[in-house]
Amino acid sequence: FNVPTPINEPVKGYAPNSPERTELLKTLKELKQQERDIPMHIGGQEVRTGTTHRIFPPHDHQHTLGFFHEGDASHVHQAIDAALAARPAWAELPWEQRAAIFLKAAELLAGPYRARLNAATMLGQSKNAFQAEIDAACELIDFFRFNVHFMQELYHQQPQSQPGMWNRLEHRPLEGFVFALTPFNFTSIAGNLPTAVAMMGNVVVWKPAYTQIYSAQVLMELFKEAGLPDGVINLIYVDGPVAGEVIFQHRDFAGIHFTGSTGVFQNIWQTIGQNIKRYKSYPRIVGETGGKDFILAHPSAHAKAVATAITRGAFEYQGQKCSAASRIYLPSNLADEILGYVKQDLATFKMGDVEDFSNFVNAVISETSFDKLAKYIDGAKADNNAEIVAGGGYDKSKGYFIEPTVIVTKDPKYTTMCDELFGPVVTVYIYDEAQFEQTLEVVDSTSPYALTGAIFSQDRYAVELASKKLVQAAGNFYINDKPTGAVVGQQPFGGARASGTNDKAGSLLNLLRWVSPRAIKETF
Ligand code: GLU
Repeated sequence: FNVPTPINEPVKGYAPNSPERTELLKTLKELKQQERDIPMHIGGQEVRTGTTHRIFPPHDHQHTLGFFHEGDASHVHQAIDAALAARPAWAELPWEQRAAIFLKAAELLAGPYRARLNAATMLGQSKNAFQAEIDAACELIDFFRFNVHFMQELYHQQPQSQPGMWNRLEHRPLEGFVFALTPFNFTSIAGNLPTAVAMMGNVVVWKPAYTQIYSAQVLMELFKEAGLPDGVINLIYVDGPVAGEVIFQHRDFAGIHFTGSTGVFQNIWQTIGQNIKRYKSYPRIVGETGGKDFILAHPSAHAKAVATAITRGAFEYQGQKCSAASRIYLPSNLADEILGYVKQDLATFKMGDVEDFSNFVNAVISETSFDKLAKYIDGAKADNNAEIVAGGGYDKSKGYFIEPTVIVTKDPKYTTMCDELFGPVVTVYIYDEAQFEQTLEVVDSTSPYALTGAIFSQDRYAVELASKKLVQAAGNFYINDKPTGAVVGQQPFGGARASGTNDKAGSLLNLLRWVSPRAIKETF
């Protein structure tokens, strides 16, 4: 074991007048003054189709950041061909050579690329500086370094031998190409899904969400500069169903690494099932999908800690994390105190663009998302079962701004307690403090999802009970902490039920999915 032992990348603070803030502000300004022409990347070539779409910041939709070139089915074929052409040399490259590329990517991102990727994430995805730093910089650096470490661990896993024989495991890459389909909400996920696959000797066709293309472009430049050979990762901007039509019918389709919505993932799974006889091998299907993540406070909970978990867990990055707290269960003895702290905290939150670093809240990702959230808020305003106790305002004249909104309901199955909203709207149900055990049942049965959840309690019996009764309700379970902010190497991330295949991002378990081991026995 000799790759450097990874430690988590320290988070920079961006304090006023700090060197990192000065550099980031300068980079933001430079990027805003340009209109970038953004090509696809297939087999190391920049591909421009002339069919372009405008890219703009969600917090300032009249401003143009650039135009990306959209491809069609022929570009999907080209990307697959380029990947398959790159495969033999890449798959045979000793793993140390592959590892070195990703260790270099980590260094480049920790240094010269940090400001650019953070700035692109801030402008393209409307993320504040701190949220960009923990995502695009720290988490992605961690993914590179820890995955290389896990990769080494995996390759060293070898079976027993006896005198007269030698048993080996050869951790072969998959036979074919892998499709990486990545979301807008984390630049680190967009960077991790194709690279975790590629690291293990596989070749990739990568399609990011259209709302993340601005930072995806920077990621591709980073991979190239780190030494990734042409064709190993091919970046295409093609409409999902158009891409799917080509990819899922291809004989060499070997797997999908996905983060996105449950509905899309289920459709993909069905399509793969329908085409199963076409493929050389059973494709690996790895996906992280939706969440309806809970915070449950026990009557013994520390009120202020619960309030902070709600405001941070529900409203960081406008609630657009799969892990965001969106249904809250408060005991009657503490509800007023907790909600009082929540309102106090929210009164200090400023909302606006990303260049003013004191804005905690920025815009939601798109007009579609804005309209959907506004509709839920209007619904709550008109419904006797719901009361809006904080926020409730929205305005899309300049950007897609939704105020952090807290709904209190008397109905534990109220629509916003059940539906995944993916925005800065959280719903609170107040339960009778004598009914904690019954409430555990409500928490478990209210949602089909099971991604993250948190219990707040100072009573260890209650913690134990919740941990047992909610054993299937969350893949990431937090005790006296908010349910967001998993750190690579510390809390491997993922959930089961409708939340995904739970192949923990940033762990050895995930990398295992991207190899197909051959057991070799030799006798002497
Ligand atoms: N890993 C992130 C967290 O723990 C969430 C990732 C996601 O939204 O998909 O907050």
